[in-house]
Amino acid sequence: MSNSVELVLSAKNLAKQYGEGDTVVEVLKSVDLEVAPSEKVAIVGSSGSGKSTLLHILGGLDTASSGTVILAGSNLANMSVAKLDRLRNQSLGFIYQFHHLLDEFSALENVALPLRIRGLSADESMDRASKMLSLVGLQARELHTPGELSGGERQRVAVARALVGNPACVLADEPTGNLDAETADGVFDLMLDVAREQGTAFVIVTHDPIRARRCDRILHLERGVLKKFSQ
Ligand code: ADP
Ligand code: MG
Repeated sequence: MSNSVELVLSAKNLAKQYGEGDTVVEVLKSVDLEVAPSEKVAIVGSSGSGKSTLLHILGGLDTASSGTVILAGSNLANMSVAKLDRLRNQSLGFIYQFHHLLDEFSALENVALPLRIRGLSADESMDRASKMLSLVGLQARELHTPGELSGGERQRVAVARALVGNPACVLADEPTGNLDAETADGVFDLMLDVAREQGTAFVIVTHDPIRARRCDRILHLERGVLKKFSQ
């Protein structure tokens, strides 16, 4: 077992139940996960197996019924909301199946937002956001709103937003699930390229075994337990 101080993210013995009494659903039973710096981990599993639930718990958006999550050396339990918000802003990026960009804001403003929340000046935030948009090939789209972009472009903006703060780890929940196969391939490769350049760790939930194989490791969530994936 590696030293937890070196890990960007670790989960130990996570369990999650929804409901109570006769209607209780045990989604996660005993999940263990260790993510090293710049490691790319894919999580596969059938629909309803608890993949999104697990990512929400890893990202501090939901709490486990029992077990421990350690992000960048800090235990997410017993943390004030303000402290958890700050840790998430500093250490994590999120990418979802739907882009969740703010419709009224330009691509540039959307990407700059996590930096503004972090307390950086408008100038510096815009400058870094602009560089990030160039990295994902959208320098000519900075001033477009999400409604003026294609599905693939919107997801590239979401990738830029997740990575702009140089987080230790990005949690991506079916990030290309809403795109056609060719566009999905492009966005997936781009995501991994930029992550490699920045040394960002990724936990990616995906339905697609071919894309999953581009990651360093594939884990299978089945009956509430995360195991090494084997075909
Ligand atoms: P996946 O992302 O693998 O498709 P989810 O994590 O979304 O799976 O859901 C896992 C199971 O937990 C499903 O049976 C789902 O219905 C249930 N579930 C998810 N969220 C809730 C909730 N807030 N309340 C009750 N049950 C939930
Ligand atoms: Mg899901």
